[in-house]
Amino acid sequence: MPLRSDKQKAKHDLAGLVLFGRTVVSTLAVISIALVLVSGIQSDPYAYASGIGALLAGACAIIAYLLYRRRIRLEKIRALEDRIDDLADHTWELREAEERARSLLDAQGDLIVRRAPNGRITYANDAFCELAAKGHSDLVGTDAALPVLEQGETSVLADGTRTHDQRIASATGARWIAWREVRVRGDAGTEVQSVGRDVTARMEAQRALADARDQAEAANRAKSRFLAMVSHEIRTPLNGMLGMTGLLLDTSLTPEQTTYAKAAKASGEALLSLIDQILDFSKIEAGKLELDTQTFALPALIEGITELLAPRAQAKDIEIASYVDERVPGSVVGDVARLRQVLLNLAGNAIKFTERGGVAIIVEPGAAPDEIKFVIRDTGIGIGPENHARIFRDFEQADDSSTRKFGGTGLGLAISRRIVESMNGRITLDSKAGEGATFTFTARLPAAGDGDQSAAPNLAGINALIVSSAGIESSLLARRLSDWGAHVSTAQDEAAMRGSLRQTHCDVMLVDYAAARAIVASGDAAAIDVPRRITLITPGERHDLPALKQAGFTGYLVKPVRAASLAARLRDGNTFDQAPTQSEMENPAPVASKGLSILVAEDNEINALLALALLARLGHRPVIAADGESAVASWLAARVSGTPYDLVLMDVRMPGIDGLEATRRIRAAERRPAAPTRALWRSPRTRREKIAKLALRREWTGCWSSRSIAIS
Ligand code: ADP
Repeated sequence: MPLRSDKQKAKHDLAGLVLFGRTVVSTLAVISIALVLVSGIQSDPYAYASGIGALLAGACAIIAYLLYRRRIRLEKIRALEDRIDDLADHTWELREAEERARSLLDAQGDLIVRRAPNGRITYANDAFCELAAKGHSDLVGTDAALPVLEQGETSVLADGTRTHDQRIASATGARWIAWREVRVRGDAGTEVQSVGRDVTARMEAQRALADARDQAEAANRAKSRFLAMVSHEIRTPLNGMLGMTGLLLDTSLTPEQTTYAKAAKASGEALLSLIDQILDFSKIEAGKLELDTQTFALPALIEGITELLAPRAQAKDIEIASYVDERVPGSVVGDVARLRQVLLNLAGNAIKFTERGGVAIIVEPGAAPDEIKFVIRDTGIGIGPENHARIFRDFEQADDSSTRKFGGTGLGLAISRRIVESMNGRITLDSKAGEGATFTFTARLPAAGDGDQSAAPNLAGINALIVSSAGIESSLLARRLSDWGAHVSTAQDEAAMRGSLRQTHCDVMLVDYAAARAIVASGDAAAIDVPRRITLITPGERHDLPALKQAGFTGYLVKPVRAASLAARLRDGNTFDQAPTQSEMENPAPVASKGLSILVAEDNEINALLALALLARLGHRPVIAADGESAVASWLAARVSGTPYDLVLMDVRMPGIDGLEATRRIRAAERRPAAPTRALWRSPRTRREKIAKLALRREWTGCWSSRSIAIS
């Protein structure tokens, strides 16, 4: 402003100087004209008149020029005045806009602060001042900062904006502020503008939510622990009841008593399996599903499961058969117990929900390396697509009425899904209501070495005929024989068989029991021109073997047919006599034993009694110790007397020193040479009896643990 007034003063002085100059020039001109006039009048009146005329003309021209200049000046002045008005308007508008912007920023709920590169505040809005509890003038020009209680993570967005959360102490309590910081141009060069939004409500809600979730998870874990404990505690007396009922059933009972005892045992077993499932579920829920890794033979596992379930299927008059693709490794590494559990659950369900037809268990290589695909297919009631996802959830069944008709807890598939997922696999379902169900799951089971897959027989050039009305077993047998190189055809019944034989020569035929009976009824099997005539029977049809043999069958196979038995029957011969019976294979003759001396450390009285009775019945000599201390004492005493135990069955949870500690002490004593000490007992027998008596007299408070360990 002072600069501008100096300029104006200089201009003003200049104008005064010009005016003064002009006045002097005009005065001099008038004087000179007057002098000219005076001299003209005196010398020549004509020249005087023309001089006057010229003078007037000159004066008129000057006046006209001056008037013209004045007009130009006035126009310029008017234009300048207009421009000044415009500029004044513009300045006013700018001031208005600045005022509006400032009041807008100040009215913002968000905090706004700008800082110069040296950290000094160049601007802070009202909200920032309020939170800082300071006035604008106290903040601007200073490097004041809000007191930070907690600093969140910082991230930088693609456009360079820096964001972070801070918990700020304020007069009204701690506030959470979410900051966005950008670089902007300001009076002092590049400045950092920080805009902070108060997100206290959101952060508190999030924290409350996280706390609630943590509490819910803790409650869930507590529930699972409670379930596991209760289930475990129920199992203990239940095992006792079941064991005792088993012993009772082995005594001589009237038929009525036998019925009641069997019913009690069946109910107990159902309850035990339910508790086992709940226990398993709660273990998995609590995140305690740990997979074992051991090498096992996959085909043997599948055939074992099929045979285990076969009596259940055969009791319902439905089929069960399995097929393991030859490309699947014979031995794999994985958790065999958990895999068996999933297969038993899926195949068990398949039997439960099937009334006609049957169940097939098929194992094939998976799509990924080390992946194996398991397919469990049935021809049962099926599941509508609307229930596919639901039945894999905890405690869910496809149809609520199935609880009443079929029983179950709705836990089996939920457990199976978790196990399969822990094996890096997936379980899927393909089914429609009324059209059977196919459960498929995959599992990562790396091959173990060369495996133990027996060499497949070479049946190239062999014609095989399968005669069976049961489609599942026959189709899987056909697949197996084709794998081995045979040319396979099938016939539904005896008539179709005869038709087929008229057209093609056949080397071997596999005939199911129904067709075999029809052949026997209509004539002589020996008359059929097929070298190997093998009948397929269930264990329940075994009584008919002599008749079938007499009718001309050359051999038999018990369903479900094992691949090895099929290969052996095709390779080695025809006779009924050579083949070991299924029951012989399943129940080998008991090995003669002189009996072992066994120390049983068990604090539960009933279970101790049960163990005592069962082991004694098996011809062993058991001694009971009621806790870890008595167990160690009994073991040491037996060793010192020169008659050590052959086996120790140790409960883990016991009062006083537990099974693990007792085992550690026994193992440590084992490493020391047995020092002959003064005999505490007259004879080993009386000594052990005394220990057992002492042990049994104690308070029995613990429980039989399924994790008992055997040492020695
Ligand atoms: P549970 O059999 O103890 O009820 P699961 O979890 O094993 O529990 O099965 C859940 C439900 O899925 C069953 O109750 C049944 O409704 C349905 N389901 C399972 N498998 C089959 C099957 N093979 N065919 C028809 N329904 C099935």
